[in-house]
Amino acid sequence: MKIAILPGDGIGTEIVDEAVRVLGALDLRFEMETEPVGGAAYAVHGHPLPERTLKLALEADAVLFGAVGDYRYDTLERSLRPEQAVLGLRKHLGLFANLRPALCYEQLTHASSLKPELVSGLDILIVRELTGDVYFGQPRGRRTAVDGHFPGSLEGFDTMRYSKPEIERIAHVAFRAASTRGGKLTSVDKANVLETFQLWRDVVTEVHAQYPDVELEHMYVDNAAMQLVKAPKKLDVLVTGNLFGDILSDEAAMLTGSIGMLPSASLNESGKGMYEPSHGSAPDIAGKGVANPLATILSAAMMLRYSLGQLDAAERIEQAVNTVLSAGLRTPDIWSEGTRKVGTREMGDAIVSALAGKFEA
Ligand code: NAD
Repeated sequence: MKIAILPGDGIGTEIVDEAVRVLGALDLRFEMETEPVGGAAYAVHGHPLPERTLKLALEADAVLFGAVGDYRYDTLERSLRPEQAVLGLRKHLGLFANLRPALCYEQLTHASSLKPELVSGLDILIVRELTGDVYFGQPRGRRTAVDGHFPGSLEGFDTMRYSKPEIERIAHVAFRAASTRGGKLTSVDKANVLETFQLWRDVVTEVHAQYPDVELEHMYVDNAAMQLVKAPKKLDVLVTGNLFGDILSDEAAMLTGSIGMLPSASLNESGKGMYEPSHGSAPDIAGKGVANPLATILSAAMMLRYSLGQLDAAERIEQAVNTVLSAGLRTPDIWSEGTRKVGTREMGDAIVSALAGKFEA
């Protein structure tokens, strides 16, 4: 099993180091190879996604990614900015399905912005389509308006579109995920206003016929945004398009308290994936040794489960995270009175010890 390790910028290197140590502590053999990506790659090779980094990502069985983004490169032309590396990897690896669990650890319910009783036991999976929708639809740009409310004025425009096969393949990913969880899928759309999402609703309904064990409900996106803060535990698996998924997955993330806890997986048709924390490169805390490495460690667990077929190892990591949190260890982002504040390295050490059955609070 070959894993491409792409740490990236800011806290990326610190948190990926810990995830690599955790993978190394398992009784499994991996080949792990590291290449720079993002601003770190631009600094060395003059491009955020150099050819050798892309080559490694393409030939590996899975990619473990930290985060990219560095304010020093914010004035570069758009194609050279660090964030372009993520878009390039998604495109070249065909990563169309983004899986974002929002799981509220019992030990961290107080960190949520919602009342503990609303989030205690929360376990939602958002399946977001990642390569289509208004983010990629052509034509797009600026032009002089010929009609609308202000003909003759400058206007910006984008194109929202989804083809039937694009909707079918993400629906299959979501139905399969739902059938291994609570057996319930909520498809989020805006079929009452948008043609694209009327087609979305029709196609998801059609695909449902192949999954009789899964209960399907359709929900408008505005209602989904409300339900996520009103009664999130009534939701289990949500599937939606790129734009709505972008927004709803961040909303769901906040229900769990800290972005430092949330892993993600982006998969292609053959199950190969890129695994990364849901947060960015956090330049404000980079180099201080205080970043929470758990989102990245849990991303490594998702990698073992979804791309490398190592379900036991994935569960062992998740269990180790539980053990360490129950013992009261907290990085500053999830710290509260009465718990023990630790840094990035100490949190990694604790997970490694817990995996070896040697952890002592
Ligand atoms: P961010 O997620 O990096 O940080 C937001 C806040 O959360 C900050 O206060 C940060 O300190 C905190 N935070 C994030 N991760 C944390 C962790 N593991 N432990 C503790 N605290 C954590 O978002 P931002 O500040 O909007 O963006 C910073 C840079 O990251 C930008 O350049 C942006 O483009 C980039 N970014 C990259 C990705 C990616 O690589 N996929 C995703 C989002 C943002």
